[in-house]
Amino acid sequence: MSNLTPIEPITQISHRIIRILGQNPGRFTLQGTNTYLVGNSSPYVLIDTGEGKSAYLPLLISSLGPEGSISDIIITHMHKDHWGGLAGVLGLLTKQGKPKPKIWKWKNPETDAAIVKSVPEGSYEPSEGSEVIHFLANNQIFTLGETILKVIHTPGHTEDSICLQMDDGSIFTADSVLGESTAVFGHLRPYLDSLRQLSSLSPTSLYPGHGIVILNGLKTLEDYITHRQIREDQIMSLLQRQPSGPEQGTRLPGAWESKSKNKGEGGWSVEELVLEMYADVGFVLQNAAARGVILHLEKLLDEGKIKKHNRTKNEEEWVLAH
Ligand SMILES: [Zn+2]
Repeated sequence: MSNLTPIEPITQISHRIIRILGQNPGRFTLQGTNTYLVGNSSPYVLIDTGEGKSAYLPLLISSLGPEGSISDIIITHMHKDHWGGLAGVLGLLTKQGKPKPKIWKWKNPETDAAIVKSVPEGSYEPSEGSEVIHFLANNQIFTLGETILKVIHTPGHTEDSICLQMDDGSIFTADSVLGESTAVFGHLRPYLDSLRQLSSLSPTSLYPGHGIVILNGLKTLEDYITHRQIREDQIMSLLQRQPSGPEQGTRLPGAWESKSKNKGEGGWSVEELVLEMYADVGFVLQNAAARGVILHLEKLLDEGKIKKHNRTKNEEEWVLAH
């Protein structure tokens, strides 16, 4: 974390965006989760609520000011570091006698129940159907005085991830694009589609869920896409030949060692691909890289470009489909 750019607890990013840090720094949350208070004047929209650290609430109070209120809270996706603070925020607004906000989120039947359960009774404005959560729709518009936010469904990091584009072309990306370090994704194909969709909007700045503001949003998105394409091309070209044996290649101390004893029919195991593609990094990064390689392989399998079969009872190998 030491190489991350420090982020102040409260940052006035522009005349209509205040970033409030969730006070939850960590290995996965980087400097902590960013929450954004958006709008020219009260009532504001709050994008995400942090994970529920008590140190967050005084920051929100001082950002809102005595007269400020929140009309809508938009949760960008299911990860708890983005919604765990919801109950605290609602409790605070109730205590201060402020209007009840609406809670918005992309519908996710599997994980929304936990959010609903966390919310104090009577602290929010329910939907027409008396539901706690108002479900977001693609291209839905929030109008806050002169500020307009448009919802973009961007599955990939999670199935229920959304981004919000502002009228000036900037985008709140949540965890689909991070300010520093690379984003993780659950499924590669929808993730790449989402990145392409975001880049087709030619965004200016990106306001990520973690890390600093990205000033050249379009370039960053193109870099993310190119990086994935390079990895995919690399896998496809490795599958055109046979893996070199376990004795070959460079290996750093502590890095993965190929355990394969049984050479298959020219296919590659995940381990062999990782060793070849990430020969120059230690095992911590190789473990992380393996997950990325598997997601690439699943995408290529889905697309019918590669196949997998069992090399031994417990080991799979991957080959080109032809
Ligand atoms: Zn996330």
